[in-house]
This record gives sequence, structure tokens and C-alpha cells, in this order.
Amino acid sequence: VSTGSTVRGRLAAGLDLGGTKIAGVLLDEEGRVRSRTVGGSPAGDPAALREALFGVLEDLRRGGEPVAVGVGVAGLVDQASGTLWYAPNIAWREVRIRDLVADRTGLPCVVDNDANAAAVGEARYGSGRGYTHLLIVTVGTGIGGGIVIDRALYRGAHGFAAEIGHVVVEPGGPRCGCGNLGCWEQMASGQALARLAREEVEAHPEGVIAKAAAGGPPEGVHVTVAAAGGDPPARRIVAEVGRRLGEGLAGLANVLDPQAIVVGGGVAEIGDPLLGPAREAFLAMLEAPAHRPDVPLLPAALGNDAGAVGAASLALELAP
Ligand SMILES: [Zn+2]
Repeated sequence: VSTGSTVRGRLAAGLDLGGTKIAGVLLDEEGRVRSRTVGGSPAGDPAALREALFGVLEDLRRGGEPVAVGVGVAGLVDQASGTLWYAPNIAWREVRIRDLVADRTGLPCVVDNDANAAAVGEARYGSGRGYTHLLIVTVGTGIGGGIVIDRALYRGAHGFAAEIGHVVVEPGGPRCGCGNLGCWEQMASGQALARLAREEVEAHPEGVIAKAAAGGPPEGVHVTVAAAGGDPPARRIVAEVGRRLGEGLAGLANVLDPQAIVVGGGVAEIGDPLLGPAREAFLAMLEAPAHRPDVPLLPAALGNDAGAVGAASLALELAP
């Protein structure tokens, strides 16, 4: 042990609070996940949700004592005050999560939007390592985003920046959870897969997707399974969603000029059947692709850990 070296022993707890689950990690300063835990998210019950959050945190603390806590939450977050203003899939409204955690645990706490947290995770420890200007896109049930400019997360005037899923790309299109019609996330996420699958099953009730759904309403995962087995309608649906994804990414690249775009989330894990058409549409729609440096679309590296790892990484910045 040499004197004067930085202390290596610090740990931070990171929590990713979503509409269906709460994921937690204990992260060290090298970005290694020391332990992880997952709990259910009783998102419709404010009091139960609070206790579930503390339950996951208590689990993590059994693996080592963190110096700070980071929380990523799927909603509009004022990062400066640690307040969740609004979340489409969680019953909390204007909740000061930072104070809630600090009062209960005595630990400093930082709160950010879950996509921002995932972006920090991928930028620091995942596929975005080494890049200065990045767009990180999370494609799951919806589409979340994080923008890194000069190595710093861009949050906007109120902390609400990078709500990229809610750009209207299909006026009059399918209704979005935000209330608008034809948001990008309705055309290029798991919800788009599910909608196109329902149309396919109505047209071909004996098809492979209908069989995968076993008589129930088809979901994105049924399309994924059918596409992996080579079913032409399923592959066409995946390619269509990929194409809409690539179009949107091109528009964002025209605005932001990133060095690379990291694409993660459950739907992105489909891989090439989705990302191939996305890359094609991206190049077709990008301004002057032949006259500018390549902007690679990179698969994310951290999987389901990204949000919790990013939240923990933000928490490590809090404590001296
Ligand atoms: Zn929307």
C-alpha cells in the first residue's frame, strides 16, 4: 500500500426504479459490480413502492456499506433537488426521492432519469467508453435517450432533455402513453413490435406469431422468437421497426453530430435482424453520409445493469 494513492475501497449503491422492477447494484470505483439484486416494483402504490425501494437498498447493504446512493427513475426528474415530478408508469408525483433516501439511510443521494443513468453507465463503463460525444438510446417497451456532450451528460434547462421517444414522427398515428399520437416510441420500440404483431395475427391467425402467443394477444417477445426461427412475417415486422428506429437515429445524429450511437434495451437485444435495417435506414437518412466520418451504431454492453451502474457511478461523484 503506497501512501498518497487514491482510496480504492469506496462503494456506491445504484438503484434503477422502473414500472415493473427495481434493480440494484453495489459498484466499486473501478466500475465493477460487487453485487446485484432485483425486486418487484409495486408502482401503483406509493407507500409500498417506498418500502420496496428500501428493501432493495437493505439487500445491497448486506454486501458492503456504500458511501452514497444513486437512483435512476423512469420519469421526469429534477436532478438538482432530487425530485421526481412525474412518471407515466409509477404512481409517485412530485416526490423528493433524494430526501426520502437520505432521511432513511443517512447517506447522500443523487436522483436522475433512468435513461440518463443508463447513458452514464454505458458512457463510462460500457460501449461508449473513450468517446467524447455520444447518443445513448434505450429501446424497450418505449425509447429512452441520453446525450453526452464533451463527456458530460446534457440535461437541458429543467433536467428533462433527451426525451427522444416523444418526438412525433407519424402524425395521427398510434396513441402514446404521453397522450400524443404517433410518437417515435410508438413506431420503433417494443410497443411497435406488439402492435404490428396484433395486425399480423388478425390477418393470419394460423401463423407462427399466433402460435407463439398461444391464443393470447401477441407481444414483442413473440415476434422476436418467431423472427429468430426465420418466420418471414416476423422478420418483416422486426425489419420495419428497425427501419423506423434507424430513421429516427439519423434525425438525431443530424442534430447532435455524435461520434457514435450506443443502442441498448431489451428490443435492441434482437441484434442484426433489427440493427441491420436500422443501419441501412440510418445511412439513407443521414445528411451527406458519403462526406462525413462514419457514425457507428454500437450495441450496448451492460445489459440490464446499465441504469443501476450509471446511478451508482453518479453517486460516487457525490461523496468526497
Ligand atoms: Zn409520446
